[in-house]
Amino acid sequence: MGQPVAGNPTQFMMERAFEAGDLDWRYLTLEVSPANLEAAIAGMRAMGFRGGNFTIPHKVEVLKYLDGLSQAAELMGAVNCVYLDGDRLLGENTDGKGFLESLREISDPAGKRIVILGAGGAARAVSVELGLAKPESITIANRSPERGGALAELLSTRVGIKSEWVGLDADLKLPEATDIIINATSIGLGEPDARVPLDVSTLKPNMIVADVVFNPPVTRLLADAQAAGCTILNGLGMLVNQGVIGFKIWTGVDPDRAVMREALEEYLEI
Ligand code: NDP
Repeated sequence: MGQPVAGNPTQFMMERAFEAGDLDWRYLTLEVSPANLEAAIAGMRAMGFRGGNFTIPHKVEVLKYLDGLSQAAELMGAVNCVYLDGDRLLGENTDGKGFLESLREISDPAGKRIVILGAGGAARAVSVELGLAKPESITIANRSPERGGALAELLSTRVGIKSEWVGLDADLKLPEATDIIINATSIGLGEPDARVPLDVSTLKPNMIVADVVFNPPVTRLLADAQAAGCTILNGLGMLVNQGVIGFKIWTGVDPDRAVMREALEEYLEI
């Protein structure tokens, strides 16, 4: 459920995975306004839905109507995945877990110095989940001091990680000791030439550069990072992984990840 939901690729990806797993299940994309959220969730319960995903603008509001939260969802204050446990509707956040799984294929974040650009929903999910994986430090670089400061504070006080906020009004110069840089702003979404405010001359070949933006799969940041010799990670893996985690939570079955990835690429025409 979300608004707007036109163009959301998740139903296409899930239905392909149900078919591949021989599961007679359905995943519906439902346009629900904020005014109808409470009634829509009551309807979901009444009709025996096993669960669902919640996207913009419902990720925070949905908490009011749930019976319990995972540790990560409680820390983030945001839920994108709900599921029935008996007659209790529980909230989870799979965005950060999806990112972490994707990152773990190339590096373990434990002990690493991490810089995250952004402090919105995606940045909160990614930073809390990374924080739970015990990095050395997480620097939050964000344009608005309120959101940036609040996230760094949350990471320090609730997750117990060394964290600070830095501004993003001029091009950010990365400290030499940085291990992992993540763009978790919306800059670059659908705009292959859009630049994040980062001094790319401070990118070094030993760094990993990740982008949560999945379309285009190679954003300008990733192209610049590749040119600087960095290891890069695009947002497609995160999107597939969060779908894989939701599928497993609802059905109890591991989906075919390759089928889901292919479906996404087909839907997004990439
Ligand atoms: P939000 O609106 O919650 O946050 C947007 C963030 O981007 C804020 O930190 C905002 O800064 C920053 N920002 C936006 N424009 C600018 C700019 N011009 N200059 C500097 N900072 C800017 O969005 P979400 O966090 O929900 O989504 C962010 C991105 O993550 C989207 O592209 C989304 O598609 C992607 N995403 C990818 C997923 C995946 O599975 N790959 C899953 C979820 C999201 P400020 O606080 O100053 O406004």
